[in-house]
Amino acid sequence: MSQGAISSAITADGGSAGLSQVGMRIADGEVDTTHGPILYLDGITVSFDGFKALNGLSLTIDDGELRCIIGPNGAGKTTMMDVITGKTRPDSGTVFFGQSIDVSRMSEAEIAHAGIGRKFQKPTVFEQHTVFENFELAMKADKRVRAAARARLSSEDTDRIAEVLDLVHLRAHAHRMAGLLSHGQKQWLEIGMLLMQEPRLLLLDEPVAGMTDEETVRTAELCLALAGAHSVVVVEHDMDFVSRIASKVTVLHEGSVLAEGTMDVVQNDPRVIEVYLGR
Ligand code: ADP
Ligand code: MG
Repeated sequence: MSQGAISSAITADGGSAGLSQVGMRIADGEVDTTHGPILYLDGITVSFDGFKALNGLSLTIDDGELRCIIGPNGAGKTTMMDVITGKTRPDSGTVFFGQSIDVSRMSEAEIAHAGIGRKFQKPTVFEQHTVFENFELAMKADKRVRAAARARLSSEDTDRIAEVLDLVHLRAHAHRMAGLLSHGQKQWLEIGMLLMQEPRLLLLDEPVAGMTDEETVRTAELCLALAGAHSVVVVEHDMDFVSRIASKVTVLHEGSVLAEGTMDVVQNDPRVIEVYLGR
């Protein structure tokens, strides 16, 4: 793929339908969290052929929080992320990002642009490009810096890339082809690419699946480092990983919240042991 083809591929879903169409005014990077959470889900129901993948799901994520979501396969964790990012429309319920952004009325591209970044389970990096170039492409795909897409990187841009390279432990690999990285390094690369767009909320679906123990520990450190400046929602089955990073844990079961609290509270909840931990 040529550089031009990649640039257009990476921006292909970045539709031009403005937020003004849905009657909202959102200044870039401004999510109003002054009077509450960064993410608010209330009574979300999603049905697939009559089966309720989400069933009255209500959830609140605070600004800067690092939240772990656990629960058995089929509990609705990925569907929840699909709803937050606009991939799936709920049959009922509301989703607010900050105080004033009604996600249910926005396209996937608008939601991403408003500041919600998502990492899927399978990393999607540009294998034939170096780590640095991947970051550069991610930065240029950001609508907020679209004007710079044809220009050279500013020194601010290269500083930002250097900062994220350090954060995701890829500085020493900056000029390696992404395709040559380990599975874990590709995951970090993709998280780094998301960070280039400076999301306020990051959604990570099973980030440590397939990672070595050492990579898992480093990913836990990365999540802890990201919290505060970002809000982070992590879906993960690896309980060692979850216990390393967890402050508050939400357990999903059959499409709604079964339990929520500290790791300790959740681990000792008999209902959680029955449906998930005790398997
Ligand atoms: P989890 O991520 O917690 O394992 P999912 O959100 O992937 O769970 O799935 C929840 C339930 O919804 C599962 O029973 C799954 O089979 C079903 N489901 C998810 N997506 C679809 C879809 N597009 N069509 C039909 N059923 C779906
Ligand atoms: Mg899933």
